[in-house]
Amino acid sequence: MGNSGKLAPETLNAQALRQIDAQTGGLTPGIFPSTTYVRDRDYELINPDHSYGRDENPGFVVAEKVLAELEAGAAGLLFSSGMSAAMAIVQTLKPGDRIVAPKIMYWGLRKWLVVFCEQWGLELDLFDPSEPDALVRTVEQGETRLVWMESPCNPTWDVIDISAAADVARGVGATLVVDSTIPTPVLTQPIRHGADLVVHSATKYLNGHCDVVAGAVVTAREDELWERISRVRLQGGAVLGSFEAWLLQRGLRTLFLRVRKASESALAIARRFDGHPALKTVLYPGLPSHPGHEIAKRQMDGGFGGMLSLRVKGGAERALEIVKRCQVFTRATSLGGVESLIEHRYSIEGAGSPIPADLIRLSIGIESVDDLISDLELALA
Ligand SMILES: *Cc1c(COP(=O)(O)O)cnc(C)c1O
Repeated sequence: MGNSGKLAPETLNAQALRQIDAQTGGLTPGIFPSTTYVRDRDYELINPDHSYGRDENPGFVVAEKVLAELEAGAAGLLFSSGMSAAMAIVQTLKPGDRIVAPKIMYWGLRKWLVVFCEQWGLELDLFDPSEPDALVRTVEQGETRLVWMESPCNPTWDVIDISAAADVARGVGATLVVDSTIPTPVLTQPIRHGADLVVHSATKYLNGHCDVVAGAVVTAREDELWERISRVRLQGGAVLGSFEAWLLQRGLRTLFLRVRKASESALAIARRFDGHPALKTVLYPGLPSHPGHEIAKRQMDGGFGGMLSLRVKGGAERALEIVKRCQVFTRATSLGGVESLIEHRYSIEGAGSPIPADLIRLSIGIESVDDLISDLELALA
């Protein structure tokens, strides 16, 4: 990428690596809806890189190159959702292979893993991410093919040490996958800490505007595993539409501004409500009282993220009451958009959920932090 090594990531990202549209000179890329590519009179492809549109679209490449650069990886691929990105990795495994993953993680993926592993003869062992040695102990209990992790873990924000996880995974020849949807490459670059693959729900911060469902995988190396993941996408066709790919590359350009603002506001909110009489605790890795704070300080650069949770006194009923009283926060699931969202996860996940019933999850957007604080103050009063 020319002199990209000398430029700061936010510069590279704002300019999308200066990927000027070669055909028109357009500063921004075009949208490429074509599903097929033409051959000339000698029956040669006019452009040898493109023949059929299931997974070939010049519109994907813009964001893929930027993401690979931001994650310090060798290559990236976009997928039709965060779930399909994750599934593409799991689908490279063989019956009998063992996955180690945290108990507290994106619930949709955990739910799918439990059923899929059972049906396809994969072994799945879940560890408690709030216990410092649980990952290492679980990996050492048997032959491990894949170690899956998030950090911070949604929605308790337990922090897992990526470098330590990478050491143990490397030691047993397992692949370390980090779902880095929450910190984004602005705050954490898992590959620099030893991860093999980074997964994103690009639906969240990467796109940032709650108007595209998308996913991405970035690899540390273009190896045989990467070949297999690429083939899953090619053959399964879990790709974005051309317009969604265009929206994603557009939203991505403001990632640094959005994530930094959300992190700053989340820290201010966590500090403001830490010790509030209506709350049992504020869960945020930026608070020194958070058990993961020291690891987060080492692993996260420039902030602790835009996500935090409040555990309220009075249980599920009281938590729901508070959520219902908010007027600036919007009641909706998902996260990572420019508007702040509030959610009672237990109501969504239901009985059997490992999420405490008194927990309220906040996704902080880019509004005035004073407005957000006043809204919560009124709701908690
Ligand atoms: C939303 C989310 C996913 C799933 O992504 P989709 O784009 O909704 O398929 C995976 N991991 C995390 C951490 C998420 O927040």
